[in-house]
Amino acid sequence: MRGSITILGTSSAAPTKDRFHSGQYFTFLRDVVLIDCGEGTQYRLLQYGLNYQKINHIFISHLHGDHYLGLPGLINTMALNSRSKPLTVYGPSGLSTILDAHFSSGKSHLSFDLTVKELQAGERIELKSMTCEVVQLEHRIPCYGFRFVQNQSDRKLNITRCEELNIPISAYSRLKEGADYSDEHRQIGNAELTFPSGKPFSYGYMTDTRYLPELSEVFAETDVLYHEATYLSTLIDRAEATFHSTAQQAGKFARLSAVNQLIIGHFSSRYDDLKPLLEEARSEFPNTELAVEAKTFEIS
Ligand SMILES: [Zn+2]
Ligand SMILES: [Zn+2]
Repeated sequence: MRGSITILGTSSAAPTKDRFHSGQYFTFLRDVVLIDCGEGTQYRLLQYGLNYQKINHIFISHLHGDHYLGLPGLINTMALNSRSKPLTVYGPSGLSTILDAHFSSGKSHLSFDLTVKELQAGERIELKSMTCEVVQLEHRIPCYGFRFVQNQSDRKLNITRCEELNIPISAYSRLKEGADYSDEHRQIGNAELTFPSGKPFSYGYMTDTRYLPELSEVFAETDVLYHEATYLSTLIDRAEATFHSTAQQAGKFARLSAVNQLIIGHFSSRYDDLKPLLEEARSEFPNTELAVEAKTFEIS
């Protein structure tokens, strides 16, 4: 398994007794990322057995409370438990002011370096194993989507051929980087000793946005896409007025983008039963799953 996405919260602005505010614990190779941090996120992390001290980067989509109110509490707890590893938080303009006010008013001392960076639409943020593309969404306040793309992986060794040709193990790392092999007797092209690397994995996160089919190019062929589905299409007028999407629109977007899998979430508290939302999205894009608290989607 190369990584996983664990759902921490699936509710829109008002939580329910079973559905919490937005948050996702996303691991991929050497990166551990928290996407959004609604109120109570630290409790979900504890309940679901996820190590919050491993998080290197936090991405906050926008400054509505259901997406960031858990952040001061989580950071406090990290410090209380003697975190020393630096943490970078990416969020919209204003997040740094909010956090500064919180920590300076409480005279809190953090045990680690906290860096808060302002997101810019169109920028690419380099993580260890992925690059995050920041995408402007359309909501009532500035809001960003994210597309995480695996950094180009190394070529895969053709071990059988390498052994047949007695290639020394010390040459393997250069071969994986694409170099040809040579010694005093011979020169062997890289293509004979390696296979091409596979398609890089990608994960898209689009929450709190009106339906934006014009972004389907940006998310084209994404492996896994999370798209908000606050309402059923019977409430499309309300979705438009509040800059949200319907489950049907989420499905349409996934189809237009030709993604592999769609996960829908950010459900209005008016829906006790989520099946109609799932059915509506699946009518447009069959490979759709509901985001459910504690559910983990494995990336193999
Ligand atoms: Zn929201
Ligand atoms: Zn919002």
